[in-house]
Amino acid sequence: MPKSTAGPEIERLIQLLSRLPGLGPRSARRAALHLIKKREQLMAPLAAAVQTAMEKIEICRTCGNIDTQNPCTVCTDDRRDQSILVVVADVADLWALERANAINTRYHVLGGTLSPLDGVGPQDLTIDALVSRAHDPAVKEIILALNATVDGQTTAHYITDLLHNANVAVTRLAHGVPVGGELDYLDEGTLSAAIRSRAPI
Ligand code: ZN
Repeated sequence: MPKSTAGPEIERLIQLLSRLPGLGPRSARRAALHLIKKREQLMAPLAAAVQTAMEKIEICRTCGNIDTQNPCTVCTDDRRDQSILVVVADVADLWALERANAINTRYHVLGGTLSPLDGVGPQDLTIDALVSRAHDPAVKEIILALNATVDGQTTAHYITDLLHNANVAVTRLAHGVPVGGELDYLDEGTLSAAIRSRAPI
C-alpha cells in the first residue's frame, strides 16, 4: 500500500478532484494544495457554489439543457429564433455553440448518440421528444449539430429518416477545412469531406 502524505480528509479531496476531466492525480494534488492555501478566497466560495448548484440544478423538460430554472434560460428567451432547432448530443455541445455565439436559436439535447457497440439505442435518447417538437408548426428547420464521427453521423441519418413526415428542412453542419486550417496538414478524410461539402462563393 502506498504511504499517505496527508490525512484521510485531504487524500479524499485529492481523490475526488482527480476524477474531474483533464485532471490526473498529479494535477489533482496541485489543485487540492492550491484550494487549501486559498481556504478563504477560493475553497469556501467553491464549496458554497457546489452546494447551491447541487440544490438548484435541473434538466430542462423542453430541451434537456442543464440550468437552475425549468424550462431553461435558453427556452424562455423570447428573442431567440423559434423557427430553428439545433440538435446536439450533449449539453457540452450546446454550451460550446453558445460560447461561440454561433446561432441565436433553441436547442434539443439528445443525451448522447446512437451506439450499438455501447448498447445505446433510440430509446436511450430524447429522439421521440425531438420528433414531436419538429411537428410544431413554428419550427421550420432542424440543424443536426452532431459529431463528425461514425456514431454522430449514424444518429444524424436515423433522425433524418424519422423527420421525413415533419414539415421541416433538416440540415447538418459542414464538414471540412477548419477556419485558419492549411490543406497540407489535413487528413484524407477531412479533405474528401471538404471537397464533397464545397459551396458556391
Ligand atoms: Zn430548455
